[in-house]
Amino acid sequence: MKKIIANFKMNKTATEMKQYLIKLISKFEDKCEAVLCVPYTCLSLAKFIVDGHDNIKVGAQNISEEEEGKCTGEISARMLKDSGASCVIVGHSERRAKFKENGKIINKKIKVALKNGLEVILCVGETLAERNTLKVADTLREQISEALKGLYENELENITIAYEPIWAIGSGKTPLVKDIEIVGKIIRKIVTEDYSAKAGEEIKVVYGGSVNTKNAATICRCKYIDGLLVGGACLDADGFAQILNTSI
Ligand code: PEP
Repeated sequence: MKKIIANFKMNKTATEMKQYLIKLISKFEDKCEAVLCVPYTCLSLAKFIVDGHDNIKVGAQNISEEEEGKCTGEISARMLKDSGASCVIVGHSERRAKFKENGKIINKKIKVALKNGLEVILCVGETLAERNTLKVADTLREQISEALKGLYENELENITIAYEPIWAIGSGKTPLVKDIEIVGKIIRKIVTEDYSAKAGEEIKVVYGGSVNTKNAATICRCKYIDGLLVGGACLDADGFAQILNTSI
């Protein structure tokens, strides 16, 4: 079953989310696993509304790297779990760029999430300059190895790697199918080299960046790709339901 992740970013109040989810659920045909990474303020409500739908999970978009205590404004792994999140996005390019999250911080966030029973969606991806200078594999190797440093192989079953080329996010541009497949293979090779052939084969890899109702089904069927991460196109319930129902 494909895994389709929605990243709502800083969109929708709890009131708006309620209307949205009621509509989305009424159209969802249960053909994929839907993971709704909603704002913190919508977590409990979303969990309550999707209750009983085994193929819909609720997730967060960020997590504190600290367990608890003097971190004003931060949200801990335990708080996320208690609010209904089963997973969390870590290393999104917006957090790397705007909030200066580096490999060390991302690694800490992943460890605290896993320790507290949250699955992790790890975002990686190259800039346009890196693509143009043929540095995609090097960039991904560095991002993945830094993020997963110190993790045991058996912990990888709780990690999904989201390949999100930065130049594709919100731009309306996507790589060619063949390029997504090449990168999917590269990611699996990196995991194989760092762990084992089994780990490289079994790690979940999804694609994100300007996925929409027109390209979702095609991208979802790419070789080496287990699903999608959808940003802007998840905000409309009708459109996102269409993406969920055709991404098989
Ligand atoms: C994202 O930012 O994670 C994303 C996939 O955005 P978009 O789909 O809007 O490109």
